Amino acid sequence: MKRCPECAEQVQSAAKVCRYCNYRFDGGGPLSSTRENIKGITLIIVLAFASLVGYGVYISITGGDEAAQAQQECYDAVLASESLENNCD
Ligand SMILES: [Zn+2]
Repeated sequence: MKRCPECAEQVQSAAKVCRYCNYRFDGGGPLSSTRENIKGITLIIVLAFASLVGYGVYISITGGDEAAQAQQECYDAVLASESLENNCD
């Protein structure tokens, strides 16, 4: 048995990684899964925030989904009526 320098728990002498805190005895240093998870979550939040900002800019440029949807519905109505007239714009 040997003592983990990271969490002070007793682990097997042959262990390369602490079973309690994932400390790597082969010189890799602490590999905290919690820290890795926080990194991943932070990245996801940043990406989600960036998408939201990008979406907001897109809406402000195009005038919003409602206008685009109304125009699409107009085109659909024109197609459905097989009319050659297009007053959607
Ligand atoms: Zn440990």
